[in-house]
Amino acid sequence: MKLEEELENLLKEIYMKRVEEGEEYEIEDESMKEKLFRLGYIDEDGNLNQKGIERAKKIMRLHRLAERLLNDVLRTDVRKIEASACKFEHVISEEVEEAICTLLGHPSVCPHGMEIPKGECCLRGEDEVRSLVVRLSSLSPGEEGEIKYLSGDDEIIRKITSIGLLPGKRVKVIRVFPTYLIQLGNTHIAIDERLADTIHVTRI
Ligand SMILES: [Zn+2]
Ligand SMILES: [Zn+2]
Repeated sequence: MKLEEELENLLKEIYMKRVEEGEEYEIEDESMKEKLFRLGYIDEDGNLNQKGIERAKKIMRLHRLAERLLNDVLRTDVRKIEASACKFEHVISEEVEEAICTLLGHPSVCPHGMEIPKGECCLRGEDEVRSLVVRLSSLSPGEEGEIKYLSGDDEIIRKITSIGLLPGKRVKVIRVFPTYLIQLGNTHIAIDERLADTIHVTRI
């Protein structure tokens, strides 16, 4: 593995432990620690500084976008995506990153349910028309979609899955007002807009 990749992986590890899990992280390899310090990513005590956090966030974002791409579009089994995503994250350029993110509809979570840090394309709020994956709430009556993933907190996800709206299922929008009425198999289900927003589908 190239040194640059090793450093990026270390940054990612520190970020996941320190920022996402709120735990301590001690960099054991003194020479790696020294290199991160010289690159300006950590302070003298070995803590990630702002520059380090930004860099780590970017790598996390690329890793998780790659996971979504492999899982949603290339239909790679979620148990097999980790290794490929780890390679992708080091080679995706800024341009490709935005193209992937837009294609996927600016996803907020990876297939493991971890948050994908937002990129500039997400903040610009690029329209979802060009996206492959869209929110269920953006389909019109008569349109069909296949559920790809759910976003939102545990409670919402439990609610959605308990009514059978699971990834892989096909749904048809019957009407969108005053509530969403969708068809799943032979059943019609009424859901509110908040729920329709958290279900991400590909148009069929
Ligand atoms: Zn993931
Ligand atoms: Zn985006």
